[in-house]
Amino acid sequence: MKPTLPIIALVAAMPAFAQETRSLGAHEHGVAALNIAIDGALVAMEFRAPGADIVGFEYAAESDADRAAITAAIGLLRAPLDLFVLPAAAGCIVTEADADLEGGMADDDHDDHDHDHDQAHDHEDDGHDDHSDEDHEAGHTEFHATYLLTCDDPEALSGISFAYFETFPNAREVEVQLITSSGAQAFEVERASPTLEFGP
Ligand SMILES: [Zn+2]
Repeated sequence: MKPTLPIIALVAAMPAFAQETRSLGAHEHGVAALNIAIDGALVAMEFRAPGADIVGFEYAAESDADRAAITAAIGLLRAPLDLFVLPAAAGCIVTEADADLEGGMADDDHDDHDHDHDQAHDHEDDGHDDHSDEDHEAGHTEFHATYLLTCDDPEALSGISFAYFETFPNAREVEVQLITSSGAQAFEVERASPTLEFGP
């Protein structure tokens, strides 16, 4: 029923995205991924970023401060136009936005328990940088968000300004894949130059 499904499917079918999904433990800290599909007035976006980039840690939340940081981050990630600023002339509004934390212990519904801490989990306090292929046991977490926008004037979608880097000081780079009716393009947007202009 939803006209949006094919676009979402298109994004999910992107090779890089499939790879991201499969290997949660293989992300590089500082590097996030943003996939964008533009189809007429509809814009679908999918965003993944290491927990380290967004909240500065990837262990299971241990303290109230940790949990508050995660909740706050999810709130920020649910406002995509404040992170990935689109030209005002395009007149885009967010029709759907979802964000959550994946990996580590975050997938378990421990939050509802009334005791404060769970039984001992493996925490890796030192470098998470060694990549392990153990999908959900590498101690990595990722924030994952999906967005759906509609734009009054999609022709005016000439680029994106990444306020994201200001919001999240640990973020260094966003790997962007853009799919439009004219094909797919890949970009790397870095903190030092946080603006992406879609090529002709
Ligand atoms: Zn990690």
